[in-house]
Amino acid sequence: MPINLAILTIKKAHEGMLSGAFSAVDLATAYLEEIKKKDGDINAFREVFADVIEQAKKADEKFAKKEGVNPLLGIPFSIKDNILIQGRKAGASSKILEGYVAPYDATVIARLKEKGVVFIGRVNMDEFAMGGSTENSAYGPTKNPHDLGNVAGGSSGGSAASVAADFSLASLGSDTGGSIRQPAAFCEVVGLKPTYGSVSRHGLMAMGSSLDVIGPLTKTVEDAEIIFDAIKGEDKYDSTSFSPVKEISTISPKKIGIPKGLLDMGGIDPEVKANFKEMVLKLEKNGYQISEVDLPHLSYSLAAYYIIMPAEVSSNMSRFDGVKYGIKKEGGNLLEDYLNTRGEGLGKEVRRRIMLGTYVLSSGYYDAYYAKANRVRNVIREDFSKAFTLVDAILTPTAPSHSFKIGEKTSDPLAMYLEDIFTVTANLAGIPAISVPSNIQIMAPHHREDILFAIGKDIEKLR
Ligand code: GLN
Repeated sequence: MPINLAILTIKKAHEGMLSGAFSAVDLATAYLEEIKKKDGDINAFREVFADVIEQAKKADEKFAKKEGVNPLLGIPFSIKDNILIQGRKAGASSKILEGYVAPYDATVIARLKEKGVVFIGRVNMDEFAMGGSTENSAYGPTKNPHDLGNVAGGSSGGSAASVAADFSLASLGSDTGGSIRQPAAFCEVVGLKPTYGSVSRHGLMAMGSSLDVIGPLTKTVEDAEIIFDAIKGEDKYDSTSFSPVKEISTISPKKIGIPKGLLDMGGIDPEVKANFKEMVLKLEKNGYQISEVDLPHLSYSLAAYYIIMPAEVSSNMSRFDGVKYGIKKEGGNLLEDYLNTRGEGLGKEVRRRIMLGTYVLSSGYYDAYYAKANRVRNVIREDFSKAFTLVDAILTPTAPSHSFKIGEKTSDPLAMYLEDIFTVTANLAGIPAISVPSNIQIMAPHHREDILFAIGKDIEKLR
């Protein structure tokens, strides 16, 4: 009997394999067939791995021997092209890394390998995760599986599209300012940005190191929870990683805050507003207490993010010098080597951010821009701490618009940056946030992913 991928979840796939209704090889084969049929149009994958069936066979052997059986055994994953899998290519969808092979496993990959997942392939993204539409990939945009004329969102557009199109049951993406949540919203899947430091960044190509976090994109909130549990926790290779010490209370979260003035803000699509209001009403009818919360410095988030992030980008990108990694384009001297290598190897948006970042860090401007943005970051963090003494969670749309047309915003970087208006705050504050269909974002205090899962599951039911 063919497997109905459209309604599959991790739990159902696990039950199917456990009961023998289908094997891990059957499951992997079903996904590979979908990729063959549809990815020519969608362009989610940078590479489909050649050994998928062998990986699935190993999972089947474990099921047969009842060895290491767990909910993720044999579950097919796609992985964003900026997360390292030992011995496989990793390119961050950039030309500068052409031919680069990962020398070690990212910690998240090592943890998934222990669970026996099946890696289907690596997926497309905005170059070095800089963008919100996957149009900054050096290998063409990823199309939205629900509307091929539209973008899949970004930067983890390949991850979101691969789950939405049934090319894999789950995916790992990275989120620096919304790159898991916004494509999840655009492709109608679930995307979790965990608390900063709760998932190791070891083996993730760095973008903005004080903002970056790895997280899952899935069909359901429950699936995101299963994966988060498998990848989280302290790691000796990432000094910012940690396991929360406190046991979490089990009282169910009922108080939801909506940022004051949110719905009067300009630039939000009327449909997005209407959809958001409708969900708030439904939650209220179902026992949630909704109130307005004051986040007085919220409107400065985007400006602060677009200073702090490029500053960190400019320093992280200095390692791509044509010597240590990827392509090298010779010039007459060292400076020309750099100019040629980066000029040819890096796309426009990446170069723009390196320049912006270098500028805000330069001696005459450091205090005016970088230091000030960090002070703003601190007050935003305090705003959230205060708000979370009054409410369990804060609700906003994930993105101010639905998925837009391919090419619509490519000539206007500022319009593209405005896409991030609701997502960057969680990265600045370090708090966890989840996007659930349709286009609803929930934010919670540090280490309270449990709150996101509880409310997220209610929203899934109320849709
Ligand atoms: N769209 C945002 C940006 O371009 C977020 C990117 C990300 O989270 N990696 O910076």
